Amino acid sequence: MSVNPNPLPLVFDEPRGRKKPPRHLADLDEAGRKQLLVDAGLPGFRAKQLSTHYFGRLVNDPAEMTDLPAAQREELVGALLPQLMTPIRTLEADKGTTRKTLWRLFDGALVESVLMRYRDRTTMCVSSQAGCGMACPFCATGQGGLQRNMSTAEIVEQVVAGARVMARGEVPGGVGRVSNVVFMGMGEPLANYKAVIGAVRRLTDPAPAGLGMSARHVTVSTVGLVPRILQLADEGIPVTLALSLHAPDDELRNELVPINTRFSVAETVDAAHTYFAKTGRRVSIEYAMMRGINDQAHRADLLADVLNERGRGWVHVNLIPLNPTPGSKWTASDPEDEREFVRRLEAKGISTTVRDTRGSDIDGACGQLAAVE
Ligand code: SAH
Repeated sequence: MSVNPNPLPLVFDEPRGRKKPPRHLADLDEAGRKQLLVDAGLPGFRAKQLSTHYFGRLVNDPAEMTDLPAAQREELVGALLPQLMTPIRTLEADKGTTRKTLWRLFDGALVESVLMRYRDRTTMCVSSQAGCGMACPFCATGQGGLQRNMSTAEIVEQVVAGARVMARGEVPGGVGRVSNVVFMGMGEPLANYKAVIGAVRRLTDPAPAGLGMSARHVTVSTVGLVPRILQLADEGIPVTLALSLHAPDDELRNELVPINTRFSVAETVDAAHTYFAKTGRRVSIEYAMMRGINDQAHRADLLADVLNERGRGWVHVNLIPLNPTPGSKWTASDPEDEREFVRRLEAKGISTTVRDTRGSDIDGACGQLAAVE
C-alpha cells in the first residue's frame, strides 16, 4: 500500500450527497432551456423570452414580464428563474462606488460579491465556492474550509445582480454596466471547473443567451491547479488567467499556498506559461505582500528570474498589499520595502503594478465578511 505524501483534502471533488441548488436558466444553454420547458409541459419558445428578461432586460420581477401570459407566468418563472440567493447585507465604501454584498444561498451557505466602479470600467468580483479547500493561511476564506461548490447560475447571478444595480443607476456615477468580472471572491474557481466554465460561457454568450461580455474582460484567478490550467488553455475562451503565486520558492510557497506541495512553483509557472503560449493572453501574477515573509529584495530578484526563465513579456505582476485578517500574524509590507520590490522587478524587465486597496474598510479582502457572520 502506498502512502499519500500529500495530506491535503482531495480538491477536485464536490462533497457528495448534498441537495443541489435550484435549476435556473443560467445553468443551461439555449437548447437546454427550451428542453426543460418542454419536459415540464410548457411551450419551449417561452425560454427565449425568459432569457431576454434575465440577461437582456435584467428584470427579476415577474410582474414586469408582461409578454408572458399571466396564467402561465408563475409556472414559467418557477421553471427557469427560481430565486437563487437572498442579500443579507450590503456594505458601501469609496462614496458608494464599492459595494460588497453578503448573500445567503438556498441551503444557508454564505458567499460574498463586490462591485467596484472605476472611471473607465466596473468590475464584479464573484465567489465560485462557498468556503474554500485551499487553506492558504493568510486568507479569511481559507480558514473555514470548503462548504460546497456553487452552481453556474449561482455564480452568474452575482454578476446579473451587479448589472441590475448599475442599469438602475443605483451606483453613484449614473446608469452604467458591468464591464469586467474577476473570480477573486470566495473559493478556488478551478476546483469547481465545470460550473465556472459554464458561468464564463453565460457571461460571454451574446444576449439573450448570455450577458454578452468580452472574455478578455473576465479574469479567472487560481492557486495553480496545474491540470486545470492546461485544460483551460484548450477551452478556446480567451479569459485572463491570474496565478496567485505569492512566493517564488517552494519552501515558502508550500507554507503560503499549501497546494504547492502537490504542484511545485516550477510546474505551476510552466503551466501558466503554457496558458500564455496557447492563448496569447498575458498572465497576471498575484503576489500578496506580507511584511518580513515574502517581501525581501532577494525574493523580488528570484521572482523576476523564475518568470524571465520562461520568456519575456508574458506576465504582469500584481502586488497586493496584504489585507490582514482578524487574529492573523501576517501584516502588510512597509511601503519602503514594497517600493524596493517593485524597483527590482522592473529592473529585470517585469511589468509590475501595486493593486489599489478598494474596500479594505468594509472587510473587502477575501471572505472576511462571511467569516464575521
Ligand atoms: N482561490 C483563488 C481566487 C480567490 S482569492 C486564488 O487563490 O487565486 C483572490 C486573490 O486574493 C488571491 O490572489 C488570494 O491569494 C488573495 N488574497 C486572499 N486573502 C488575501 C488577503 N488577506 N490580503 C490580500 N490578498 C488576499
